[in-house]
Amino acid sequence: MDKPSSTVEIPYPAPRSSRPEIMAEEIIERLTYRIGKDAKVAKPHDWLTATILVVRDRIIDRWMESTRKAYKTGAKRVYYLSLEFLIGRLMRDAVSNLGLMSEIRDALISLGVDIDVIAGLEPDAALGNGGLGRLAACFMESMATVDIPAYGYGIRYVHGLFRQQMADGWQVELPETWLAHGNPWEFERRESSYEIGYGGAVETVGGYEDTPRYVWKPAERVIAMAYDTPIVGWRGNRVNTLRLWSAQPIDPILLDAFNAGDHIGALRESNKAEALTRVLYPADANPAGQELRLRQEFFFSSASLQDILRRHLQQYPDFTNLHEKVSIQLNDTHPAISITEMMRLLVDIHGMDFQQAWEITRETFSYTNHTLLPEALESWPVPLFERLLPRHMQLVYAINALILVEARKQKSFSDTQIRSISLIDEGGERRVRMGNLAFVGSHSVNGVSALHTDLMKVTVFSDLHKLYPTRINNKTNGITPRRWLMQCNPGLTSLIRDAIGDKFLDDTQALTELEKFADDNAFREKFAEVKRANKIQLANLVGSRMGIRLDPSALFDIQIKRIHEYKRQLLNIVEAVALYDQIRSHPELDWVPRVKLFAGKAAPSYHNAKLIIKLANDVARVINNDPSVRGLLKVVFVPNYNVSLAEIMVPAADLSEQISTAGMEASGTGNMKFGLNGALTIGTLDGANVEMKEHVGDDNIVIFGMTADEVQKVRDEGHNPRAVIEKSPELAQALNAIASGVFSPDDRSRFSALIDGIYSHDWFMVAADFDAYAAAQRTVDQIWTDPKSWYSKTILNTARMGWFSSDRTIRQYASEIWRA
Ligand SMILES: *Cc1c(COP(=O)(O)O)cnc(C)c1O
Repeated sequence: MDKPSSTVEIPYPAPRSSRPEIMAEEIIERLTYRIGKDAKVAKPHDWLTATILVVRDRIIDRWMESTRKAYKTGAKRVYYLSLEFLIGRLMRDAVSNLGLMSEIRDALISLGVDIDVIAGLEPDAALGNGGLGRLAACFMESMATVDIPAYGYGIRYVHGLFRQQMADGWQVELPETWLAHGNPWEFERRESSYEIGYGGAVETVGGYEDTPRYVWKPAERVIAMAYDTPIVGWRGNRVNTLRLWSAQPIDPILLDAFNAGDHIGALRESNKAEALTRVLYPADANPAGQELRLRQEFFFSSASLQDILRRHLQQYPDFTNLHEKVSIQLNDTHPAISITEMMRLLVDIHGMDFQQAWEITRETFSYTNHTLLPEALESWPVPLFERLLPRHMQLVYAINALILVEARKQKSFSDTQIRSISLIDEGGERRVRMGNLAFVGSHSVNGVSALHTDLMKVTVFSDLHKLYPTRINNKTNGITPRRWLMQCNPGLTSLIRDAIGDKFLDDTQALTELEKFADDNAFREKFAEVKRANKIQLANLVGSRMGIRLDPSALFDIQIKRIHEYKRQLLNIVEAVALYDQIRSHPELDWVPRVKLFAGKAAPSYHNAKLIIKLANDVARVINNDPSVRGLLKVVFVPNYNVSLAEIMVPAADLSEQISTAGMEASGTGNMKFGLNGALTIGTLDGANVEMKEHVGDDNIVIFGMTADEVQKVRDEGHNPRAVIEKSPELAQALNAIASGVFSPDDRSRFSALIDGIYSHDWFMVAADFDAYAAAQRTVDQIWTDPKSWYSKTILNTARMGWFSSDRTIRQYASEIWRA
């Protein structure tokens, strides 16, 4: 979507009509001429594609307009580089943001087609693992909404995150094929192709007296080809581009080899190139560490930078003003190699002086950190890095020399401090530290919640923070209220409109006007009715997919997110086991009927996470089939968590489980989705929960457990979990039941190692926090038994969560980091 190159004045087409009759005609037209199907024999999928094509035309009108505007105004462009975009479905999002929902619905009704049926057929684009990728998707929508000329850059994986199936309670990973029916949203841009190199050597050529020029001669090359997807902002004000790169071979077929009879070998290059963007790495919150991953990172970084520089040169004579016209945001360290690639392009290709290039690079880039766990920070073995990217290795050394001189000169840093800020980790096998590279090559380094940002300054980046004390800043994450309220919860949205009008649709913080209804009986009842309808919808899904009957009047207690030990699904399951025991031993008490729902994927190589899924399913089978429970407790693990499933589960939650070990969740965004949709949160003082508590008020959230400081202190001073367990009979009973095979009679020792981990080190403080958690759950029960109090609190959650809109986050990035 670049400047039109035609020299004659070509009038722009008139914008498309939004009348249902016209759109119905167009849908038939697309069905006939684009898909080649007669309406009489068209399959639901054909109707979906035809409808998307009609919607897409309306988007294109605005897309072109947005691009023209950016050229005319010379506004700064923002580039969001992310290895992951967890998009989900796009049709409802696009139609709703264009304000065409009722028109498209009517157009389809006139053709005998139900929009809800075809919308459910759209594949869920899962080009991401979890929160980090979903954040990138929410940001894309918010950047269009707040009218920032922005491009997202990433990889067009042929296979997104695997599809999860259960086999006897174990996770089984199946390939995901979101492109199987084609992708009507995307535009292939053959003209936007770039060469990406790997390996080879660096040659030194003449240059000026003492400044030789370096020329990288890669041994391998592939082509990066662009696919563009338009992203519509709220009310269609702006349409931005998500540009995803696909790898293509330079030579699709080696004809010499083919003619010599080597028919397989002739396709070697082609297969190798295409393998590069075939699949998303399924590891969340820990580095993949494989050569193919580094190749993917460089591939999309280099293609994106070449594209950015080409676009800049279309409008400006050189790169001296690059940092005034371009901001590049690195979503975690995955694109951090971009910093050296920018240096290579500016210095080696465009002949800029090294020092000037370095200053412009730093002013252009900014970096978002997503994790504090030292073992989760990306680093690459020097030999691998050097073999794949020899010129970039030289640049890493050159940048490192600059930084280390600065550190010694300006701050007289100690040797230990110098070692910690170095781009090279010299302890053991030498490795390139991508976090440090991203830090020194950016003018802004941000955390994603207030707590995470504070911790960053005293943990991973403490010495770099001393060297550059103004660089670290906070931008608390957010979620787009379009997808995570208006689209996923139409019942609540219309209830809110009836109560306070439409202002909140454009300014989520206007939801505070709902506060005055928190004690209004009639409103509380309507709020409860909406929740009940959403719970029935989820119960229907669970009933039809899993054959489990759920009572919608039970408390729906939901924990959905990636399965990770630090997120502590295990704590939740252990508490379910303890509750199960209590219900059976105290039948005389009035137990609150509860359904504990789980969903989430485990990285295929993460043994304990997969075992936790199996445990949830084993516990569910026993509890759900025990008549002495009298239906008071059910446990359900819903398979194949993704954005579309979240859109059904979030609005149906009474209770949101945000129970990570304090200090370990950078922000969380699932927590925000639930709060906005009127769930009560049970959570630790971790990530953005801390700020949620400040916004919703102490009385409207149930906080328990150790703080990040306390966790640190216990770890420093030595934790004795065995002593803790001995003091808690409920915990001891639950752990022993699990360890001894009560839930796994077919393999009694299945979970013994998992439980041993709690007894021996309890790194994630499951034992340490158990009693506090169980007590917090009984507090939740107490509140639940007083519906007026329950709905007052949950209404106040919806009313006060507006600040967590990603529009607010993006405005902060724009004014404080991008200055756009
Ligand atoms: C929001 C979301 C996440 C992030 O959830 P957390 O609870 O913050 O970890 C992960 N996956 C999907 C599909 C989501 O929608």
